[in-house]
Amino acid sequence: MTKKAVFLDRDGTLNIDVGYPSRYDQIDIYPQSFEAVRRLNKEGLLAIVVTNQSGVGRGLLSEEDLRDIHSRLSASFSRHKARLDAIYYCPHYILSEDSRYRKECDCRKPKPGLARQAASDFGIDLAHSYMIGDKTEDVLFGMNIGAVPVLVLTGAGGESRSQLSARNVVPAHVAAGVLEAVDWILDREKDRTP
Ligand SMILES: [Mg+2]
Ligand SMILES: [Zn+2]
Repeated sequence: MTKKAVFLDRDGTLNIDVGYPSRYDQIDIYPQSFEAVRRLNKEGLLAIVVTNQSGVGRGLLSEEDLRDIHSRLSASFSRHKARLDAIYYCPHYILSEDSRYRKECDCRKPKPGLARQAASDFGIDLAHSYMIGDKTEDVLFGMNIGAVPVLVLTGAGGESRSQLSARNVVPAHVAAGVLEAVDWILDREKDRTP
């Protein structure tokens, strides 16, 4: 059995992008994110976070710090009766001083590695899945994995919209924020299921 997923970028999509946060108290979740994830849970779409965290490779936080942030982030969604099904991250940085993180990896968005891993872990049908994010690389990632890319105008969304149009790349939808993006996805899904 294959499942559909909505991949969600983290910074600038679910929470305010402050640039390389290293502690959970620097994470400010948009209030609409809880309702967005609750609606995905209710409709049976997997809610999977995919996030580039080169701050690890840059030595700005440890992988342990990042895992701590993610377990608290998940707990915060749980307290709001919303479930993040998984969080996948890329810790790499091509110029890292730490050889564990210094590589040209396949998991830094827009490369497809994180989605491939999730697809194999959960049995996801990527061609019937979605990607929501605020950056050009999120939209390109959505396209690279064969999913439907949705740009949000929170975070860097405004700049990304200009960058994308300069490159003639057109997201399937542009939404004010993650909740509107999810509602667009759920409407689209309704049209497809008789
Ligand atoms: Mg982002
Ligand atoms: Zn990576």
